[in-house]
Amino acid sequence: MKMEPAQLIAELSEMGISRGPILDAVRYVPRSAFVPKEQIKHAWENRPLPIGSGQTISQPYTVARMLELASVSSGERVLEVGGGSGYAAALIAYVVGDLGSVTIVEILPDLAARARETLRRIGLKSVMVVEGDGRKGHPPRSPYDAIIVSAQARQIPPELLEQLAEGGSLVMPVAENDVASLTRVVRRGERFVTTRHGAYAFVPLV
Ligand code: SAH
Repeated sequence: MKMEPAQLIAELSEMGISRGPILDAVRYVPRSAFVPKEQIKHAWENRPLPIGSGQTISQPYTVARMLELASVSSGERVLEVGGGSGYAAALIAYVVGDLGSVTIVEILPDLAARARETLRRIGLKSVMVVEGDGRKGHPPRSPYDAIIVSAQARQIPPELLEQLAEGGSLVMPVAENDVASLTRVVRRGERFVTTRHGAYAFVPLV
């Protein structure tokens, strides 16, 4: 059965995604532009899909959930570590709008190049794609109102916490074993307030 955007939106709402701008972003960003030709027929399905180089494009629900947890909103400066295909970045760009900014760091050069090209093709020129190790963040554009880490690791890299703005949130899957807890850290002065929000499986941060 070929899924349509409306079905995906209905499914995300049922799963508890409630913020309008996030649902609108999923509706308007053409996920098909971010997947290889043979996956286009699955583009509106709510699951991760292979994008080559052993990596996957995130599941729409997972990105939506991370954006809700990080309270990403209009005008914010956002960093995503593990940019992959650029799909999550496109959703973020839609939510933050023209007054915000989006920076993604991707370690695999071919994926970074492809993400840059896809984002330009769909008209999202405002996303900056940086090739490199995202554990170090991207200090030149810090501090960030939100940092989304799209790959799991045992610990939150301290450099990322340093690049968080006052009141900003970092959302990252932190792995104890194979399963990771989706973890949110909110910066309150010198304190980092940490909460966990369920188990998810991600590819590892290398
Ligand atoms: N959000 C992406 C999917 C991310 S999959 C999308 O919507 O398509 C996780 C990505 O993290 C992979 O592309 C992987 O290459 C990248 N990655 C893994 N370790 C990394 C690191 N240390 N720095 C930056 N990117 C990393």
